Amino acid sequence: MLKQRTIKNSVTETGIGLHKGRKVRMTLKPAPVDTGIVFRRIDLNPPVDIKADARDVGDTMLCTCITNSEGVSIHTVEHLASALSGLGIDNIMVEVDSYELPILDGSASPFIFLLQSAGIEEQDAPKRMIKINRPIRVEDDDKWAELRPHDGFRVDFQIDFPHPFIKQTRQHVVMDFSVNSYIDEVSRARTFGFMRDLELMNDMNLALGGSMDNAVALDDYRVLNPEGLRYKDEFLKHKILDAIGDLYLGGHSLIGELAAYKTGHGLNNKLLNALLDQPDAWEYVTFEDDKNLPIHYIESTNSFGITFA
Ligand SMILES: [Zn+2]
Repeated sequence: MLKQRTIKNSVTETGIGLHKGRKVRMTLKPAPVDTGIVFRRIDLNPPVDIKADARDVGDTMLCTCITNSEGVSIHTVEHLASALSGLGIDNIMVEVDSYELPILDGSASPFIFLLQSAGIEEQDAPKRMIKINRPIRVEDDDKWAELRPHDGFRVDFQIDFPHPFIKQTRQHVVMDFSVNSYIDEVSRARTFGFMRDLELMNDMNLALGGSMDNAVALDDYRVLNPEGLRYKDEFLKHKILDAIGDLYLGGHSLIGELAAYKTGHGLNNKLLNALLDQPDAWEYVTFEDDKNLPIHYIESTNSFGITFA
């Protein structure tokens, strides 16, 4: 049986929040079957829980946030969500003493490391996945994103940045996660942005934690980070990382293909909601038999040898 997963032990990390630039302390804790992903704001008295739910997701200029029915928000959830999707973790409690998660290195890699350090535990209940049965498409100007039936998980993803440096990198890829490894090929891709935008935002008291420690910074022609890129197509890979995180805020892994052109947080969320609004386009599936699983996750040990998706 393909089982639900949580983590074995609690694990704590501190880091800078992107928005306020202040230190944030985050503790990831195991959670029971069918909990889903729950954020707990322990800076509030009493603490407030915010459950990841596609309908409560919004996007800001900088990140994806979730706001509960009481109006309490948690920001910058997408990179953790992407890591949780990559490891197939269904149930987790994320305690945080701020309104934002730490940005860490701007990728999903530190979250993968933390979750693997905590250990992954299989739980005694079947994992429920969302199987796409017919295409669902959303558009915004020339941008679009579509979910299509596919027996596995695959992305056909294109970006189109008219920047001289980004244009020289790969801007279109098809990744089939029965072959491609999320951890190896996607999780390390960092956020990117223009240095001049960061300076403008800083002037408006925004993105105070943004720096070359947690983003790839560009000027009009080149990458400013002395260490360069982690992948030759890091820009494209980060957009895939974001989309995988955004789509996981529905709480379930998808069996299907994501095809997208110039999509971002807002459109990813619109796609997820369009899907959930049309129950005839998908169904929940579980797998009692381990044979012929359309998706494989790494073992609960700290093995990097097996591909996700
Ligand atoms: Zn991102």
